[in-house]
Amino acid sequence: MVDVIIAGTVGYDDVKTPFGFRKDVLGGAAVYASVSASFFAKPGMISIAGEDFRDKEILIQKDICLKGLEVKGKTFRWGGEYEYDMNEAKTLKTELNSVLDFDPVLPEEYRNVKYIFLANIDPEIQLKVIDQVKEPKLIVMDTMNFWIDTKKDKLLEVIKKVDVLLLNDGEARQLFDTVSLVKCGKEALALGPKFVIIKKGEHGALLFSDGKHFNAPGYPLEFLKDPTGCGDSFAGGFIGYLAKTDDISETNLRKAVVYGSVIASFNAEDFSLERMKTLSNEEIENRFKEFVEMREF
Ligand code: AMP
Repeated sequence: MVDVIIAGTVGYDDVKTPFGFRKDVLGGAAVYASVSASFFAKPGMISIAGEDFRDKEILIQKDICLKGLEVKGKTFRWGGEYEYDMNEAKTLKTELNSVLDFDPVLPEEYRNVKYIFLANIDPEIQLKVIDQVKEPKLIVMDTMNFWIDTKKDKLLEVIKKVDVLLLNDGEARQLFDTVSLVKCGKEALALGPKFVIIKKGEHGALLFSDGKHFNAPGYPLEFLKDPTGCGDSFAGGFIGYLAKTDDISETNLRKAVVYGSVIASFNAEDFSLERMKTLSNEEIENRFKEFVEMREF
């Protein structure tokens, strides 16, 4: 039985950072988020990969349920580049490929799940996933500029149906057409979600809820190579922790934000999913403690 379902892309990325270049490496929002969630709970993935997909092994190793992973056509591909300010990727290519034909049909056991994470993918697919789950307890969603540019109306429809909206700072400013992140938070809450999280890359994350506001620090990483997938890793750690503890109080959401930040910080230490392959629960707990100490004054 899965604890959380995660919908999003499975992809191959070409990534260039000041620390190197990798071509055709494993990526995709659902991959990063599911692997990250797997440190806390059992994820079920809802996605489509192409017949050229050759990386099931790591997903199986992380005990991710793949009953919702369809295989057809050619795998989604993304290319991006980062400069020294690694907080924002410059997208060089987006090839949707098999995502264009994806019409998700949830396996029966996924329909009773309580925790849903709608990672980056077409908002129409996100809506189809929501419609098939019987009584979700918490729906969390993420998006990115590509979907704000191409499907804003559908995206707003999804936002109205979720409990937690995740955005990075640039996307929040783009969606709400303002520079103030506090204003973005308020406008997003007015659309329906009970919580809004604005991720600020290496500078941490803000959690807004009715009249409240929590500011989680970023981890001061000395060595980082590639921030690709940090947003998805944050989200996977966040929802994985909530699914494990089955507690959606504001206090526990704050803890989940810190666990999300911990996982995202590890992800940036290497390209693709490389760091996730060796990451241990002990390392996660130690860095969580460091976060707590960092905040004391
Ligand atoms: P993040 O760095 O967390 O924003 O996510 C990066 C991952 O998202 C990469 O591995 C890409 O394969 C994937 N990605 C990039 N563009 C899109 C898109 N338009 N829709 C869904 N996933 C995407």
